[in-house]
Amino acid sequence: MFKEFIQGLSITFKHLLPGHSTTVEYPAVKLKPSDRFRGLHRLVPAHDREKCVACYLCPTVCPAKCITVDSAENSKGEKYPRTYQIDLLRCIFCGYCVEACPVEALEMTGEYELANYTRADFTFTKERLLK
Ligand code: SF4
Ligand code: SF4
Repeated sequence: MFKEFIQGLSITFKHLLPGHSTTVEYPAVKLKPSDRFRGLHRLVPAHDREKCVACYLCPTVCPAKCITVDSAENSKGEKYPRTYQIDLLRCIFCGYCVEACPVEALEMTGEYELANYTRADFTFTKERLLK
């Protein structure tokens, strides 16, 4: 019993030593999320346009139904999203949309600072997602 008590105390005191802290002084210090972190989405650009071919797979698989796509055809007969938007207030960051995309036109970045002031700021349009 006493041995376990000492072991517990030694773990606690070890975390007080410099370099052993598990927290950072955010926002002065920012952690780099892992490569597998699912943060803000990004539409991947391709040459003079977005890579997305407006196939509607991502809004179909999205469990939160927060993706809206409106397709159109350009002069070459290629489909593209005239509008594409994600409502981040409903998104649960599951990543199904990225997995479903057949042309890898959508990815999730390490961006996690998503706080905002108005509901409209949480609607990410095609233009914002391409940035
Ligand atoms: S991460 Fe999940 S909830 Fe968010 S838009 Fe993609 S499929 Fe929908
Ligand atoms: S699944 Fe990919 S190509 Fe299809 S609409 Fe979504 S982002 Fe565009």
